[in-house]
Amino acid sequence: MRLEIRTDPPSEVIFGPADFGLLAARHRKVAVVTDRNLEKLYGGRWREELKKAGLPELLFAFEPGEAHKTPRTLEEIWDFLARSGLTRSDAVLAAGGGIVSDVAGFAAATFLRGVACYNLPTTLLAMVDAAVGGKTGVNLPQGKNLAGCFAQPRAVWADLGFLDTLPEAEWQNGLGEIVKYGCIASEALFERLSRPDWREELSQIVFDCLCIKQEVVEADLLDGGLRQLLNFGHTLGHAIEKESDFTLPHGAAVGIGMVLITRFSEEKGLTEPGTAAKIEAMLSSFGMPTSFPESREKLFAAAASDKKRRGDRFTLALISRIGHGFLQEFDREELA
Ligand code: ADP
Ligand code: ZN
Repeated sequence: MRLEIRTDPPSEVIFGPADFGLLAARHRKVAVVTDRNLEKLYGGRWREELKKAGLPELLFAFEPGEAHKTPRTLEEIWDFLARSGLTRSDAVLAAGGGIVSDVAGFAAATFLRGVACYNLPTTLLAMVDAAVGGKTGVNLPQGKNLAGCFAQPRAVWADLGFLDTLPEAEWQNGLGEIVKYGCIASEALFERLSRPDWREELSQIVFDCLCIKQEVVEADLLDGGLRQLLNFGHTLGHAIEKESDFTLPHGAAVGIGMVLITRFSEEKGLTEPGTAAKIEAMLSSFGMPTSFPESREKLFAAAASDKKRRGDRFTLALISRIGHGFLQEFDREELA
């Protein structure tokens, strides 16, 4: 199974293990960039693969976690690439979760004014989200993702085998985002997820999500209107993450955010009654939380003071029913 992403330059998602032979055919050097957890689990295998393909064994690992998605790590990667003698025609293989693809992607996009980058996502979230669309970047002390650029990966390999070692919180991150895709764009995906044997259809589920993301990304490459649909559940989700002092996984917070915002839009008559209950039931079936102790008013107020607003107007991603997302503007006061 493969999916062409019609970006410029074009990108593709290939279902299956990373093809080191293809990398060796295209480049003389390929630097694997990953985090230390993944290096422990898979570093030996990746070095072996590089060697087997006749490539030098270049692998750089940085400390895992959001706290290391920094200019400092970026500098360490540049330093490694420079010491390894990478040239314009060489490449980086970003192997890991969303943090790795963000930092390694930014390093590749800026080293020598840009070398090729390939993605090997190892989390469910990165497979359906971060590895496609070309967002890269690092955090600054003043905020998340403040420095970065759009740079499309040449290819992305979706290898579900990595999920065998994925921790529970990381599953929730991925599932929260997958439920979101179903909500905004595909009732069929939502139904697929509600079957008891959904795990057996996981590659089809990932494929469905990527098709949706592709449509949105192609239609709206630079994060304008349509991409905001992907923010469904996120406005409140971010507020919930913050209120929980980031103890709730992002996907779990987004899950709760989807339930709360959909209850709100049901009350406003914008959403088919019973929709929030469907989302709730789905999240519960995954063992994910569906409510949060803080009042909705407080969360709305926190969200309304957040950055994603234009003046006094505030755009929210909502759904009219499962599978149908739309954008609606509100007054900030109306929300608060
Ligand atoms: P994402 O942004 O995609 O959720 P992160 O880059 O934040 O992912 O990684 C989350 C954590 O999970 C990190 O500590 C990382 O080392 C770990 N991790 C990523 N993929 C795997 C995997 N396949 N098996 C075990 N741990 C993993
Ligand atoms: Zn998200």
